[in-house]
Amino acid sequence: MLRAEAEEDVPGFSERDYLGEEEFWARIETARERGATYARRIRSGDVRHDPKGGECPVWCDVWPMCRVRRA
Ligand code: SF4
Repeated sequence: MLRAEAEEDVPGFSERDYLGEEEFWARIETARERGATYARRIRSGDVRHDPKGGECPVWCDVWPMCRVRRA
């Protein structure tokens, strides 16, 4: 995800990666809100094992050190 105005300085990415100012900052705000929600959840002691979709993806490379049983 890149700001469209950076395309000249940071070329070579997919056209879809370059976003206008409004969309770029909207996505930043969404990520910030999600991060804050997860942080609140963890601070409250909720560290349940709930990988997205209910199962650990086969591409997860950190499963050998993950302290939860692989779903
Ligand atoms: S193995 Fe652990 S780190 Fe990997 S997806 Fe599952 S819960 Fe997440």
